[in-house]
Amino acid sequence: MSIAENLAEIEVGIVDACKKSGRSRDAVQLVAVSKTKPNELIAEAAAAGQIHFGENKVQELIAKKPEFSADIKWHLIGHLQKNKIRKALPCCDWLHTLDSLELADAVNRIAGEEGLEVAALLQVNISADDAKFGFGEEEAMTALPQVLDYENLKVTGLMTIPVFDPNPENTRRHFSNLRDLRDRLEQESGCSLPELSMGMSHDYHVAVEEGATMIRVGSSIFGSRN
Ligand SMILES: *Cc1c(COP(=O)(O)O)cnc(C)c1O
Repeated sequence: MSIAENLAEIEVGIVDACKKSGRSRDAVQLVAVSKTKPNELIAEAAAAGQIHFGENKVQELIAKKPEFSADIKWHLIGHLQKNKIRKALPCCDWLHTLDSLELADAVNRIAGEEGLEVAALLQVNISADDAKFGFGEEEAMTALPQVLDYENLKVTGLMTIPVFDPNPENTRRHFSNLRDLRDRLEQESGCSLPELSMGMSHDYHVAVEEGATMIRVGSSIFGSRN
């Protein structure tokens, strides 16, 4: 199947999940995860109308972005090391992986120095997986006032990578837990946190049913990675 056909198939899946859950199709944005994939394939997806792309490595992001028009939007979805913030920020339209207060402090400070405003999501380790980066639920509660106070950092929601389970039904509770946490954080702060970045190739249907506003889909679009 071509990339355009893969995108069309995912579109059907998104529409279907939106119908099932009474959501508007416009509420969900597909982020095409192009990590490890060459520019030709990204261009193919862009030609088919795909606008948002996700990368997990700063080096790869900064190499790819200049090769495409400014209409293409880039999402950093991998852990950001502090020594790479300054390089990453100008290339990153969305930062999904604010995974500690220390990182948020540093991003806010460097964004200020560079005259940038960064759109970001708090990464939450919702399935309490030792191997994953991110705030714990309580930690996110405690950190939120400070996070919302940053001048150069606009936090508009949450992101999670739940522990992998081949059966997406087993992941549903992690997605709904992230949504519940978001609702509690909104109540606590009185601020709006509309974005929920959750769901990948094998479980995006379930994520959309549970309220995802950004799904991060790679292999179903571009084929499997080595
Ligand atoms: C690679 C990656 C994805 C996409 O995974 P697929 O299973 O290929 O769809 C989504 N989110 C993150 C954070 C990733 O690193």
